Amino acid sequence: MQKRIYLCLAHMSGNEQRFIQEAFDTNWVVPLGPNVNEFERELKEYTGNEQVDVVALSSGTAAIHLALVALGVKAGDEVMVQSFTFCASANPVVYLGATPVFVDSEPDTWNMDPQLLDEAIADRIRKTGKTPKAIIPVALYGMPPQMDELLEVAAKYGIPVIEDTAEALGSYYKGRFCGTMGRFGVMSFNGNKMITTSGGGALICPDAETKRRVMHFATQARQPYLYYQHTEIGYNYRMSNICAGIGRGQMTVVREHVEHHRNVCRWYQEGLAGVPGITVHVAPSEAYDSNYWLSTITLGEQVKVRSALQRNGLMRTDCEPNPNVMALAEGLDQAGIESRPLWKPLHLQPIFADMPRYVNGTSEQLFRVGLCLPSGPMVSEEDVAYIVQTIKGLLI
Ligand SMILES: *Cc1c(COP(=O)(O)O)cnc(C)c1O
Repeated sequence: MQKRIYLCLAHMSGNEQRFIQEAFDTNWVVPLGPNVNEFERELKEYTGNEQVDVVALSSGTAAIHLALVALGVKAGDEVMVQSFTFCASANPVVYLGATPVFVDSEPDTWNMDPQLLDEAIADRIRKTGKTPKAIIPVALYGMPPQMDELLEVAAKYGIPVIEDTAEALGSYYKGRFCGTMGRFGVMSFNGNKMITTSGGGALICPDAETKRRVMHFATQARQPYLYYQHTEIGYNYRMSNICAGIGRGQMTVVREHVEHHRNVCRWYQEGLAGVPGITVHVAPSEAYDSNYWLSTITLGEQVKVRSALQRNGLMRTDCEPNPNVMALAEGLDQAGIESRPLWKPLHLQPIFADMPRYVNGTSEQLFRVGLCLPSGPMVSEEDVAYIVQTIKGLLI
């Protein structure tokens, strides 16, 4: 039987266990220690940016939460959030009692539309009399957003940018490391991301002073007294020294992982080149150097897919990808290949039904016609050939 091919599985370098063993041997089995410090140093070095500093945390979601806390976002505030993304980009805004205002994407990078952002902010100021507290653009599937244009809009209104680069470790925009261009940048080391710590994240801070402030909030905002003294609400968000040991092992292969994801995307491009109506999403120009965390395709109107049996056990709504995408996902599943529709825009999520939104149709259209394909370090060139052949076989 054909093995199952997954979207993005974790892949260990073999060095992870050594760093974990070290932690046990020295009894650093706590959310601080030598692995945490060294992992942070290596991450900072990987950004190639002398100015920034990195705080290792328990998740990427925690990183977004603490960036908002550090920016002083409070109940009643508004934060501009890219709509076409995972819920974790917006949830921390709600944790703070603030309101996410969703902004749609432009079709080139699939990320936040700078012009729409400009109009949306102007409209929020007109309607509420208040300037939004932060802007959260995302580098979806690793593709950098139109950063120069977004930063220009942010500067025009004096609003700080939190780059949600949870999917974009190793992506560059005009030679700049994604996550180092805004005030803050987010990293995720969840099991399915570019590298993993089994679960974890990090916040890229603009300087050492901001890092100290973020560390303070990540460790229950404890004041420097002998006894426990608190003047602010904090969180328990530091990374464990064991997880950081996995992270140090992963840093020995991070460059190979990124290179592999890029190769996988190239193999899909080559394999699907002759198939009318199927487009592999690639960078609009050389300015956008994506890590291609997940390779994605869109189906044109002429593409018709043989319908397969509906997958058991999965629920359906009336807001779904089009029948050809659903049939393709089901057909791939039956051939042992995991795939997934693109992120459902957050402004279409029932939980965010009451949040303000500025939409132009782009993300809704992409959600209808797009599919993510297996891309991780365990996906070989032969696997991609098999996936391409399976896709071709499912077309009518
Ligand atoms: C994974 C992800 C996050 C959250 O990271 P976790 O480490 O899973 O908390 C945030 N934003 C985006 C776009 C993501 O893909």
